Amino acid sequence: MTKRIFKYMELIIVLTLISGFVAVLLLLYSNFKSVQQNQLKAETNFAAKAVESQGMDYLSSLNIKNTRVTWIASDGKVLFDSKADPSSMGNHASRPEVKEAMESGDGESTRFSNTLTTEMIYSAKRLSDGSVLRIAESRNSVLMIALGMLQPMIWIFLILLLVTWFISGRMAKQIISPLNKFDLDHPLENEEYPELAPFLHRIHVQQQEIGMQKESLERAEKDFVTVTGRMKECLILLSWDGKILTINQQAMNLLHADDSCVGRDVLFLERRSEFERALNKAAEGEHSELIMDFSGRKYQTDISPVPFDNSDKTAGMVILMFDVTDRENAELMRREFTSNVSHELKTPLHTISGCAELLEKGNVRMEDTQKFVHVIYGQVQRMISLVEDILYISHLDEGSIDMSWDNIDLKQMAERIADQLRPEAEKRPVTISVSGSAPAVPGIYRLNESIIHNLIENAIKYNKDNGEIHVELKEEKDTVTLSVRDTGIGIPEEDQSRIFERFYRVDKSHSREIGGTGLGLSIVKHAAELLHAELKLESRLGEGSTFTVAFRKSQPLS
Ligand code: ADP
Repeated sequence: MTKRIFKYMELIIVLTLISGFVAVLLLLYSNFKSVQQNQLKAETNFAAKAVESQGMDYLSSLNIKNTRVTWIASDGKVLFDSKADPSSMGNHASRPEVKEAMESGDGESTRFSNTLTTEMIYSAKRLSDGSVLRIAESRNSVLMIALGMLQPMIWIFLILLLVTWFISGRMAKQIISPLNKFDLDHPLENEEYPELAPFLHRIHVQQQEIGMQKESLERAEKDFVTVTGRMKECLILLSWDGKILTINQQAMNLLHADDSCVGRDVLFLERRSEFERALNKAAEGEHSELIMDFSGRKYQTDISPVPFDNSDKTAGMVILMFDVTDRENAELMRREFTSNVSHELKTPLHTISGCAELLEKGNVRMEDTQKFVHVIYGQVQRMISLVEDILYISHLDEGSIDMSWDNIDLKQMAERIADQLRPEAEKRPVTISVSGSAPAVPGIYRLNESIIHNLIENAIKYNKDNGEIHVELKEEKDTVTLSVRDTGIGIPEEDQSRIFERFYRVDKSHSREIGGTGLGLSIVKHAAELLHAELKLESRLGEGSTFTVAFRKSQPLS
C-alpha cells in the first residue's frame, strides 16, 4: 500500500510539474510576445523620429542583424530595406501594417514573411511626408528565448523530482504508519483518520457479531462436551473418511487416547479387522454392530452412517460403544443355568423311568419291589428339592419374593432351624449347638432363614460321623455375626472361591448321593448380597469349615 500511495503521488507530482512547466513556458512566450511587440513599437517610434530628421543617412548607418527595417514611400514603393534590395521588392502599400499606418499613423501585424521564410511581427509608423517606416522582427527570437529557458527548467524539474521523490516516500510511510498501528480489537478507539470512522464502525459492529456467534458456538460446544463427557457410553463422531471429529472422555479412556487424536483416522486408535469391516460397511451407508473385548470387558459397538440431506451419500459416522459385560455374563449364566438344570433333572428322571419300566414289565422280584419304590421316591424327593431351589433362586433373581424388612432375632431363628434339622443330624450322628447372644437386626425373614438353614444343612451333610456343629452369634461394632462351624470334611483351597457358583460341587457324586442340589451356597451368597451382609469362609481339608455371615445392625439405605 505504501508503494501504491508513493507511485500515485509521484505520478501526480510529475504531471503537475510537467503541466506547470508547460504553463510557465506558454506564459513566458505570450509575455515575451507582448514585450517584443511593445519594444518593436518603441523602436519604430524612435527610428521614425531619426529618419524624419536624418533621412536615408540614418538608415544607411544602421548596423542591425536581427531586425529588418523597411522604409516605404507613401505610394507603397520600397525606398529602403535592411535585408533585401528595394528594387527587387514589390509594392508594399497593401501590407496590412503599412496600410494601417498610412490610414491611422500606426500599424501592426504578424504574419509569415515569404521574403525571410519565417513568422515575423511588424510595427509601422507614418512619417510626416506620408511615407511609412516599418520595423520587423522574427517571432523565432521570442521562441528562442523561451526555449533557451528550457534547459534550466529541466534541471529544476529534475531537482524538484528528486526532492518530491524523497518527500512523497516519507509522506506515504507517514500516511500508512498510523494504519499499521491501528488497534483492530478496539476499532472505535482509533481517531487518527476521521475519514475512516464509518469503516472502523463497521469493523466494530462486525466484530461484535462475530464475538456473539463465537460465544454461542463455544457455548454449544461446551454443552456438547459436557453432555457427552457425562455419558457412560463412548461416543465418537467421524467424518465421511473416518477422521475423528469429536471423541468423548469415556471413548478416550477406553481407547487409551487423548485430545491429540482429533483429526486422525479412527483406525489409528483401533485396528481390529472386524472393526475396520464394520466401519467400511457404515461408510457405505449401512448400520453395523459388533462386540469387542477391551481388558476383559465386552463393549457393544454400534456404527451408524450419517447421510447428507436428501442424499444417500455418507456425510459422517457415529460410533457408540457401551459396556455389555454384565448383560453378556447374565446371558451366559442364563444359558449355563438352563443347561445345568436340564442336566440335573436328567439323572433322576432316567433313574425313575428305568425303575418304573422294570416294575411295569414285572421284571422285579416281589422282595425287591420295595427297594425300587424307595429309589423312585428318593429321586422324586431330589427333583422336588431341586425344583424348589431353582424356583427360589429364580425368585431371588427376579426380586419377586416378599422383600419387606423386619427386626429379626437371629439367635431365636438359628435355634428354631437347628431344632428342625436335629432329626436329620441325629441320623449321621452329628450334634448341633447354638450359643452366644446378639440384638435383633434388620433383615428379610425368608432370606435370613434360607442363609441359616442352608449353612446348618451343609454342615450336617458334609460332616463326619459323630461330628459337631457350633452355631455362634456375636455382637460386633456395626454388625452381628453368625458363624456355623463344623468338624466335617472341609473344602479344598482351590474350590473355596467356586463353591458359591450355581451347581458347583466339590464332589458331584457325593453331593448327589446325600441329596445336594449344588444351589444351597449360591442361595446363601445371593441372599447375603440382598441383605448387604458379608460372607466369609474358612476351611481346612479334613478338619472342618466355618461359614461366617456379618449382618448389619442398621438397615442399609437401599
Ligand atoms: P449342595 O447342594 O451340593 O450342598 P451347595 O451349594 O450347598 O450345594 O454347596 C456346594 C458345594 O460346596 C457342596 O457340593 C460341597 O462340596 C461344598 N460344601 C458346602 N458346604 C460345605 C461344608 N460345610 N463342608 C464341606 N463342603 C461343603
